[in-house]
Amino acid sequence: RSVVTAASSSPAVATTATDVPGTMKAWAYEEYGDASVLKLDEAVSVPAVGEDQVLVRVAAAALNPVDSKRRMGKFKATDSPLPTVPGYDMAGLVVKVGSQVKSLKEGDEVYGHISEKVLEGPKQFGSLAEYTAVEEKLVALKPKSIDFAQAAGLPLAIETAHEGLERAGFSAGKSILVLGGAGGVGTLVIQLAKQVYGASKVAATASTPKLELLKSLGADVAIDYTKENFEDMPEKYDVVFDAVGQGEKAVKVVKEGGSVVVLTGAVAPPGFRFVVTSDGSVLAKLNPYLEAGKVKPVVDPKGPFPFSQVVEAFSYLETGRATGKVVISPV
Ligand code: NDP
Repeated sequence: RSVVTAASSSPAVATTATDVPGTMKAWAYEEYGDASVLKLDEAVSVPAVGEDQVLVRVAAAALNPVDSKRRMGKFKATDSPLPTVPGYDMAGLVVKVGSQVKSLKEGDEVYGHISEKVLEGPKQFGSLAEYTAVEEKLVALKPKSIDFAQAAGLPLAIETAHEGLERAGFSAGKSILVLGGAGGVGTLVIQLAKQVYGASKVAATASTPKLELLKSLGADVAIDYTKENFEDMPEKYDVVFDAVGQGEKAVKVVKEGGSVVVLTGAVAPPGFRFVVTSDGSVLAKLNPYLEAGKVKPVVDPKGPFPFSQVVEAFSYLETGRATGKVVISPV
């Protein structure tokens, strides 16, 4: 028996001839806990498609630290009800469209982060499933130059990188220090700062084996955090982007009047924290940079993990040592 039944609140809409089954395979958990609560359920109801939504046959999905935090029950109070099919990031094929959908049609290849708010009422039926329903406005057409696995790793991380840079008022000619430059978010902050915003100088931190990667992504300075403390170095930056949880140290190296973006952990003035909002128009805006190869997806070389190995993939992500994105493909 399936542990999950689809929400009945979203109005189902008529479809064309597409042959979507009634049930699907999905990873799900009925209680909060470590990765062992995840079970592969062979018969989860395929989610109903709301009038502003599309149903996507997921080709690839990606994991984010917030999936782990959610599964551990860290934001129970605002989470969707259990049981949960986790997963925010996906790339796949549109197989059904709601009646109000204007810009997408069956057969379109899309990618996106499926929950507009990550912490407040995220979707109960996420992307670690064969099908997921998502609002049209949260997805964009997949750049043709990248495959589904590469695309799946982008949405939440690139939207976070973009929103953080926007909120910090980043612009051409400014300098930036990226703490955690080799992670899912950091690899994209480096590239957006350099390629999209025209940074004058990009510095980033990582451990010794990852310094070359930082350089290859466009960092002018790669700081080995196992050998040097960035907060003791003389250089000051217009913006510090903290993807590690070092907010208290980060504020020591920002210029007077500069901004410190903090994604996790403690924050001291003038630092600020925010939580990413999913937005397909951000993906559409960045698509030309992806198409041109100016911004490149970084998929962790231990993956992509097949759909059967989601537990192993989460265990790896939770070491905190992933390089770029932990991707699940094929789904
Ligand atoms: P990842 O799991 O991808 O980060 C892993 C990377 O972090 C590794 O490459 C590791 O490199 C690096 N790292 C770990 N410790 C350090 C350190 N002390 N200095 C420099 N690098 C370090 O995480 P994400 O990039 O996906 O997310 C980063 C954090 O931001 C998470 O806590 C996440 O929950 C949060 N987040 C918050 C969002 C928001 O909206 N507020 C949105 C997205 C993410 P190495 O092996 O070299 O140590």
